[in-house]
Amino acid sequence: MNVQHVGVIGAGTMGNGIAQVCAMAGLNVTMLDVSDSQLRRGISTIGASLDRLVKKNTLCADDKDLVLNKIFPTVSYQELRGAGLVIEAATERLDIKLRILRDIEAAVNNDTVIATNTSSISITQLAAVLDRPSRCIGMHFFNPVPLMELLELIRGLQTSDQALEQALVFARTIGKSPITVKNSPGFVVNRILCPMINEAISVLQEGLASAEEIDVGMKLGCNHPIGPLALADLIGLDTMLAVMQVFHEGFGDPKYRPAPLLKEMVDAGRLGRKTGEGFYAYGKAAA
Ligand code: NAD
Repeated sequence: MNVQHVGVIGAGTMGNGIAQVCAMAGLNVTMLDVSDSQLRRGISTIGASLDRLVKKNTLCADDKDLVLNKIFPTVSYQELRGAGLVIEAATERLDIKLRILRDIEAAVNNDTVIATNTSSISITQLAAVLDRPSRCIGMHFFNPVPLMELLELIRGLQTSDQALEQALVFARTIGKSPITVKNSPGFVVNRILCPMINEAISVLQEGLASAEEIDVGMKLGCNHPIGPLALADLIGLDTMLAVMQVFHEGFGDPKYRPAPLLKEMVDAGRLGRKTGEGFYAYGKAAA
């Protein structure tokens, strides 16, 4: 596949990041959201991100407009016609995603690959809503998309070899390093990462060490760039709890039980950086 035109559904945190990396790779991008205001916000986030790259000398100032001119914001599915790949990156709700996937399929060619950036919903379940489910694949990007190198590609039960091959070519085109995994709750990276963070919360709850000592231990002892509790604050404790609940219910295995302290922190509204307080205090709600 030589994709020249990519559709991205959702102009939020992940959607605008995906649109940016595609445009920086020289692809034409149609970025679709529900309203002009969401699209304007997405475009302005991309502008600010490009400015940071210019400041760091990673992007030359003249290229900023070239990149922005490659992104076409729209609220109309008709604009996806001709796209070789459409990536769904809208709100993490099953009903919303099922509708979007059907709308994408109605608008694109029969051979367009349809990807979803879901972090917890089964790719097999999402693909099943399509007339041609073999074209559907999970493309799990990491946040912030312009900086994180990994792209986790997830095969649903129906995903064809051809769709996977096309996704691999696309990953390399936009400068990401792909890994290929099978569909399962949390896929692979979050399946390993989130229980580790959950365990760190249990260690804190048992009073074995302070939050700072736990984080220093994992940074200096395991070479992690950030400690697990600081990372939990960055991800958001509500998100962490939701992921652990998906594992607990999905596998029916008590080893995935959310740490009681995690649940209590969420009940208290201490969600991490976004509320200004989690395992650490941030003074005021951080962006
Ligand atoms: P977000 O809330 O920042 O953005 C979601 C966007 O989807 C919003 O702009 C919203 O207006 C739009 N949207 C909602 N309904 C829509 C519809 N019917 N049609 C078109 N657009 C619609 O969310 P996000 O963090 O960007 O997450 C998007 C997806 O990426 C989710 O599936 C999430 O699980 C996944 N994901 C998120 C992260 C992360 O760190 N935030 C990491 C990996 C994957």
